[in-house]
Amino acid sequence: MKQPVIIVGSGLAGYTLAREFRKSDNETPVLILSRDHGGFYSKPTLSNALATGKTSTSLLISSAEHMAEKLKVAIRPYSQVTIIEPSSKTLVLLDGAKLHYSQLILALGADSIDLPLKGDGVKMILSVNDLDDYHHFRCKLEGKKRVTILGAGLIGCEFANDLATTGCHVHVIDISSQPLGRLLPQAGGNFLQRKLEAIGVVFHLDVAAQHVEKVGEFLRLTLSNGKIIDTDLLLSAVGLRPRIALAKAAGIEVNRGIVVNQLLQTRYPDIYALGDCVEVEGKVLPFVMPIIHAARALGLTLGNKPTQVHYPAMPVLVKTPACPIIVSLPNPNTKGEWQIEENKDSIKALFQDTEKNLLGYALLGLATAERAALTARLPPVMQ
Ligand SMILES: Cc1cc2nc3c(=O)[nH]c(=O)nc-3n(C[C@H](O)[C@H](O)[C@H](O)COP(=O)(O)OP(=O)(O)OC[C@H]3O[C@@H](n4cnc5c(N)ncnc54)[C@H](O)[C@@H]3O)c2cc1C
Repeated sequence: MKQPVIIVGSGLAGYTLAREFRKSDNETPVLILSRDHGGFYSKPTLSNALATGKTSTSLLISSAEHMAEKLKVAIRPYSQVTIIEPSSKTLVLLDGAKLHYSQLILALGADSIDLPLKGDGVKMILSVNDLDDYHHFRCKLEGKKRVTILGAGLIGCEFANDLATTGCHVHVIDISSQPLGRLLPQAGGNFLQRKLEAIGVVFHLDVAAQHVEKVGEFLRLTLSNGKIIDTDLLLSAVGLRPRIALAKAAGIEVNRGIVVNQLLQTRYPDIYALGDCVEVEGKVLPFVMPIIHAARALGLTLGNKPTQVHYPAMPVLVKTPACPIIVSLPNPNTKGEWQIEENKDSIKALFQDTEKNLLGYALLGLATAERAALTARLPPVMQ
């Protein structure tokens, strides 16, 4: 009997790959394993679902059953892979079941990072990294108004905007001196801060959260500057870490992510990886567009047409309606300088080298209209 191609993970990476593979191969059995419900949803919508009135039920686009039918694949929800044995091409599941694969694709995603805070309220800290987390968050939010967010990065700022729009009192804490410190030059961060403050968000910057204490029904948070914030909910959005433990235990090379080449292949020829868990030629890019490009290439490779992944410039849209933002970061280690044009409605920040070649940009407010023209001038992220 022909062993299936097994995809571990039913997120955007797993499902997009299955869809792409089916374009070139309708016959080979495909099995998708997921430790969650296996339904398909758009993860980026989790951080702007409140304002649009969406719940975890309405965010679910298709059940696992429906996806299986649509893609002509088998799906096993609530099936966590605990061991990979590359020598026998076998997977072991949490319930002890053993499965054999012809080719294995790891689409495991990333875990939310937990801050090392002290206090008896630490276990009450929430994070939203999947649909089940979102359901839990919405249940906890019921009847509450005060929400404090740890982390003023992309996800923290998006939640801050969403919560403030729906009438919550939102505090955001970050050790950086500006929001979106990894994506925007300081002037851009300041601009975003002003726009979010205008809808009621309160920022605490250059400061760390240290201690969380449970006081009756609420939490008392102490910051490194001694300030105290009483809050109903504490939402952590301090970043994600690729899920590498399973691969590492199997002897697959890992670094920040699961290490693959441009064919998305690990050091084992029959084991591939893509999505938030992966590091392609040194790049960890936990966003939608890299997954789409990777899935297209890997779909062809699995269909016997080896295809390397190439990344064009892939701007990221920050979903903060109070301050529309589009950013395309320069490749790490490229030398250049930000040139910033600012007025009351917009910021146009261009990152250029000494010959004025455009390497990256950050557009805020009305300047986002220039996105298409500027993107066309950017170099690819990976050739
Ligand atoms: C709130 C939020 C907002 C975002 N907004 C944007 C945005 O605006 N733009 C953008 O480009 N990106 C955004 N992102 C990032 C984007 O959503 C992710 O890059 C993408 O969804 C990751 O998909 P994935 O399939 O790699 O991982 P995931 O969706 O996390 O899927 C991982 C899958 O692996 C399964 N799994 C893990 N371990 C095992 C195991 N051992 N056994 C079996 N199954 C396992 C899980 O159950 C899950 O099904 C956002 C992310 C978040 C959290």
